[in-house]
Amino acid sequence: MNPLAIDVLVIGAGPAGAAAARAAAAKGLAVICVDRCAEVGLPVQCAEFVPMPLLRTVHETDSRVQDVAGMLTVLPSGLQHHSAFPGIMIDRARFDQGLAKLAQAAGAQLETRCQFLAWDGEVARLRRGTGEAFTVRPRLLIGADGPHSLVAEAVGLPHQEVVYTRQYTVPLLRPYADTDIFLSDAFPGGYGWLFPRGPVANLGLGADRHFEDNLKLPLEQLHRQMVARGIIGEAILGRTGGAIPVGGIRRMVHGNVVLAGDAAGLTHPITGAGIPAAVISGEGAGLAAADYLAGDGDALESYAEDMQDQFGPALARAVQRRKSLEAVWRQPAAQEDRVMRSGWIAFDEYYAA
Ligand SMILES: Cc1cc2nc3c(=O)[nH]c(=O)nc-3n(C[C@H](O)[C@H](O)[C@H](O)COP(=O)(O)OP(=O)(O)OC[C@H]3O[C@@H](n4cnc5c(N)ncnc54)[C@H](O)[C@@H]3O)c2cc1C
Repeated sequence: MNPLAIDVLVIGAGPAGAAAARAAAAKGLAVICVDRCAEVGLPVQCAEFVPMPLLRTVHETDSRVQDVAGMLTVLPSGLQHHSAFPGIMIDRARFDQGLAKLAQAAGAQLETRCQFLAWDGEVARLRRGTGEAFTVRPRLLIGADGPHSLVAEAVGLPHQEVVYTRQYTVPLLRPYADTDIFLSDAFPGGYGWLFPRGPVANLGLGADRHFEDNLKLPLEQLHRQMVARGIIGEAILGRTGGAIPVGGIRRMVHGNVVLAGDAAGLTHPITGAGIPAAVISGEGAGLAAADYLAGDGDALESYAEDMQDQFGPALARAVQRRKSLEAVWRQPAAQEDRVMRSGWIAFDEYYAA
């Protein structure tokens, strides 16, 4: 069968893919967005925090659960540091599903249970959940397929460096307005977190597999500590986890293939925050697609430059801080508050030249 001809094929219906499909469809392009999952947004693999600048999208998707005012960072010595950290805890499934609905409302066609398999430079090969294989010939392909992007691999990029995470949803015994961050050698290459979400909290951690590949034990320990402090109940209401890219920005434009979100390495390598960059880059990729297909030959490179301008300096700093910390994990220096302060965004030392 002949490949299906289309303006834009978007792989992945996470925040980056849905935002891209929405923006491109709103510009009048014929867009198909596919996701291998049965249902957009599920399973949730997220701590569900977004910063205030994403408020418009939170409103649009009706996904707000509670506000967060500050961040309490707990250093290895037990010393605590409080800083302002205004943001919103969202229902991530609702957020992703809301964005996908907005893309459909703009005219994009969404197909779930549909997996991207390969790209030969002109034609994409896909397979439906039914087992049926088919091909699509897009004028432009957008890879928004997350940290283990097959689209990025298909255009020749190596696997991204990632940190793995594990998270429990637990009952919260009292209302909580802050997020707690735990810096410790127990979570080498990552950190522990508690994000309050109404009557529950997301309690999790990330760590670098080079130093620690068993995330269950440190998370159980963190869980016990928080139960003992009377902050959370013992029950574990849900379990999740996932990979977070930590290598920084990758080349985003490869001929008529464009990457966005985690696939482009836009996630913050220290905090793991990637939803804002996914939405912004997805939207940027969709708009650039429209300009490019309307004849602006520079539109895709302009998109890449814009993303570099917006995210490059912060990501470069974070990559550099990770490298400094890598040298000390599992060594006495990793127990020093001074060292941990230089690697965490709440402290002035992090921003020092
Ligand atoms: C445990 C955890 C906690 C996190 N907490 C936060 C947080 O609190 N705040 C924050 O800002 N960020 C957080 N992040 C990061 C954030 O979740 C990601 O940065 C964000 O999801 C990136 O969006 P995306 O659209 O680029 O990719 P994704 O959300 O990963 O979406 C990619 C989509 O592509 C689909 N896909 C993949 N391969 C294929 C294929 N071959 N064919 C078809 N479809 C495919 C997937 O099914 C998926 O739906 C967290 C990550 C993890 C793992």
